Amino acid sequence: MALFFFLMLQMIRNPHPLSPPTASNEKEDYKSFVRDPNLDETGEPPEPLHRVNGHNYDPDNPYSDRINATLLSLVRNKELTELVQSMQDLERTWNHKFNYPWTFINDEPFTEEFKRVTQHQTRALCRYEVIPKEHWQIPGWINRDLMHESANFLEDQKVQYAHMDSYHQMCRWNSGFFYKHPALADYRYYWRVEPNVHFFCDVDYDVFRYMQDHNKTYGFTITLYDSPPSITTLWPETMKFVAANKQYLADNNAMKFLTDRDRRPEHHQAANGYSTCHFWSNFEIGDMEFWRSEAYEAYFNHLDRAGGFFYERWGDAPVHTIALGLFEDASKVHWFKDIGYQHIPFFNCPNSPKCKGCIKGRLTDGEAWLNREDCRPNWFKYVGNEWETSMAS
Ligand code: GDP
Ligand code: MN
Repeated sequence: MALFFFLMLQMIRNPHPLSPPTASNEKEDYKSFVRDPNLDETGEPPEPLHRVNGHNYDPDNPYSDRINATLLSLVRNKELTELVQSMQDLERTWNHKFNYPWTFINDEPFTEEFKRVTQHQTRALCRYEVIPKEHWQIPGWINRDLMHESANFLEDQKVQYAHMDSYHQMCRWNSGFFYKHPALADYRYYWRVEPNVHFFCDVDYDVFRYMQDHNKTYGFTITLYDSPPSITTLWPETMKFVAANKQYLADNNAMKFLTDRDRRPEHHQAANGYSTCHFWSNFEIGDMEFWRSEAYEAYFNHLDRAGGFFYERWGDAPVHTIALGLFEDASKVHWFKDIGYQHIPFFNCPNSPKCKGCIKGRLTDGEAWLNREDCRPNWFKYVGNEWETSMAS
């Protein structure tokens, strides 16, 4: 088995880590668009939009207009300060109006300090949950020696967190387990919130109601290319699954988006047929019915057995993106263009008087080459842009 895997790795070896190019005069090449659609003035998405009216979203109103949805944060005790930053931004721009509950989840118990300080940031209900061991631990079919060897190999290819077991566990949990947590059983929609993210724009409608009323499954803000060596066999495994399960493919799927080779051929090649473009999942607003579906459960189990969460470093972002792209109608995925957002080092910053603290249309405050990592043009090309836009190319 180890020998087989070693030979496989030799065959698919491809030295294309995410690393800055050397030439300094290539700035223009990094532009994604003739004109970034975030430069166009952005208002709200179309009606119906559900708003605060009297006491309909008061935190203690038992007949409130809230639907069964929660803000959701997987977080460690030591990230308290960073989480408070995220909470303050989201409460200020949105949740102090709508008062959706927060669910905090951890692989170990939260400290009393964590509970006290987070509850202090919001009038909404806060819940503190521990992950069942069997959802978090590395599964028994993973060969630890092989995992260690593989991590050495990934590290050589500059894959971040290659040797950090907990990072692999986190990616697997976010792929196949968060929505199975007993504390989430009665919730349908979630908004994932990470420590140390920023929200810049006032949002004056209930985004969960927006998802429900407009029949959306998933909302994103930022799309990026992934590091191919972290997912070398993810697409081939996916193709195996699809070959045996064609019934799960959506009629209006986003296969062309997933398999674009034109814009970044070297990524397409190194990832064996996947463009690597993914919804950046540190922000996601989603309908858990999709993750709980038969199609996704079968797909996740296939991937899990294949071992790539540990022998490679499959992220929940490409896994979610591929599943949505194949098994969901593409029109049910929504770009939350109007939600100004930052997770270092990338932004979604719309042009709107409701936004403060970010620069409209700026994707990154890091180095220029990071602009190349933006793959929204692929989404717009193959699936479309729901938002009015003047000169986007
Ligand atoms: P990055 O954004 O990919 O660099 O990864 P992060 O370090 O931000 O981790 C992603 C999310 O998972 C964040 O919400 C973290 O708080 C959370 N997370 C990562 N590892 C662990 C872990 O071992 N335990 C817990 N409880 N949360 C984790
Ligand atoms: Mn993060």
